[in-house]
Amino acid sequence: MNIAIQQHYDNLQSGFLKSPRQLLVGGRWVDARSGATFPVYNPANASVIAHVADAGPDDVDLAVKAARHAFEDGPWSRMSPADRAKLLWRLGDAIEAHAEELALIETLDNGKPIKVALALDIASSAERFRYYAGWATKMNGELCPPAAHDGGKFHAFTTRQPVGVVGLITPWNFPLLMAVSKLAPALAAGCTTILKPAEQTPLSSLRLGELMQEVGFPDGVVNILTGFGQTGAAIVEHPGVDKISFTGSTDVGRAIVKASTGNMKRVTLELGGKSPVIVFPDADMNVAVEGVARGIFANTGQVCQAGSRLFAHEKVFDQLIEGIAAKAGKLKIGPGIEFDTEMGPVVSQEQLDRVAGYLTAGLEAGAKAVIGGTKMKRDGYFVEPTIFTSSTTDMAVWREEIFGPVLCATSFSDADLDHIAAQANDTEYGLAAYVYTRDLSVAHKIAKKIKAGSIRINGGMVDSNVPFGGFKQSGWGRENGREGAEAFTEIKSVIISL
Ligand code: NAP
Ligand code: MG
Repeated sequence: MNIAIQQHYDNLQSGFLKSPRQLLVGGRWVDARSGATFPVYNPANASVIAHVADAGPDDVDLAVKAARHAFEDGPWSRMSPADRAKLLWRLGDAIEAHAEELALIETLDNGKPIKVALALDIASSAERFRYYAGWATKMNGELCPPAAHDGGKFHAFTTRQPVGVVGLITPWNFPLLMAVSKLAPALAAGCTTILKPAEQTPLSSLRLGELMQEVGFPDGVVNILTGFGQTGAAIVEHPGVDKISFTGSTDVGRAIVKASTGNMKRVTLELGGKSPVIVFPDADMNVAVEGVARGIFANTGQVCQAGSRLFAHEKVFDQLIEGIAAKAGKLKIGPGIEFDTEMGPVVSQEQLDRVAGYLTAGLEAGAKAVIGGTKMKRDGYFVEPTIFTSSTTDMAVWREEIFGPVLCATSFSDADLDHIAAQANDTEYGLAAYVYTRDLSVAHKIAKKIKAGSIRINGGMVDSNVPFGGFKQSGWGRENGREGAEAFTEIKSVIISL
């Protein structure tokens, strides 16, 4: 730990992490009505680092009332889009000003390397608020000239209005960034919110709530409910919530859809994936090795769009696997708090057991571990980066989302793009796909054939201005870009008889 981080650590120990963190409801920090709390763990050593309030249905009800009031009667609905934009921009600045502290919170809570938390999670969170500050003033409707009626007699146009009170249920893999990716567009669109961070990683969202108060967000615009086991469902079932935006597993996504029917909530879902990676023989091997390794080992494989099913042409298969295994073997694995750590632990004991279970199942089914294949013998939730060859497409490790640093690889020999795409598409998911080739024609043709929300050719990025989301069971709707903000609006058509 360097001196600045040590100072933040000491401050957190004597302040933020010391007393149980409360819920943010209607602009006030309060205990759960039941008084219940639950522990928060540091995955690097399995120690308890904090306690947070465990919100129940009563707390959800109060938060919904506060959000409704701020939406219908409060200053949020009366505030101009330009003033909302200013608040969003200021929040981006506040995140940047507290970058080290927030990165440290993220590392202690989630386990990720602090240098990654700083460069990716926190930097992108600041940038995303600023990006959506720009959209707050651009939620335009359109002119809709009548098609089958006399345009001289009718004038028709649309407006976009905020959908209302929205519930945002966020995952533990990028705790702050996923919360921000929902809050920023929701607030830009003019909604009021109830944020429910994952129980494994609630701390950065709670700190964000304090920063939102400091920069001047009115009471009730953002309510934050930490909870464990019942809070999410209570938000989804509440008749006063107009929309749910959820990122997490497909199973919970399905439960949310069912529970949303009471008042026909709008639902956006960003769910799991088992994304294919296709490496053609003409690919730049250095680029492919680097990209495939990063695509499965970054964030300890806990990435919804991880490239976890590798199809490599037989001419380059051995070279590629050797290169990725060499990279995996050199990864500096350890507590995220150490500045040279490249891969941290997985987030929880449960996730460690889950990933280890898949590793055992893969080996028992006959997959060969070129490297890795087991959890690590040390404190904390550490698992070895693993590459399975000889895995067949019926194995659980090949078909199911593991959400760990586990790559399954196979080779292909034919040049028939339809056949290759059919294999890549042989999954219930459709979040992302990765293609490595120098042939522009092949790249475009295969990109068109693959059923996934994002296709990344020779690498790629996630960007605030590029829509992100899934085909098939990887989700409903898109985050980021114009689509991300429009997802928090309703279209209203206004027809004027002239
Ligand atoms: P999860 O089950 O998908 O989601 C847990 C979250 O959903 C919690 O906040 C929980 O809140 C809420 N929830 C659970 N049941 C609900 C319901 N019926 N209605 C509304 N909300 C509900 O996540 P997980 O168990 O931590 O992870 C399991 C797997 O999900 C991972 O292994 C991975 O495959 C996948 N995952 C995907 C992503 C992604 O980015 N797409 C992220 C994280 C995990 P309560 O505690 O209040 O119930
Ligand atoms: Mg934790």
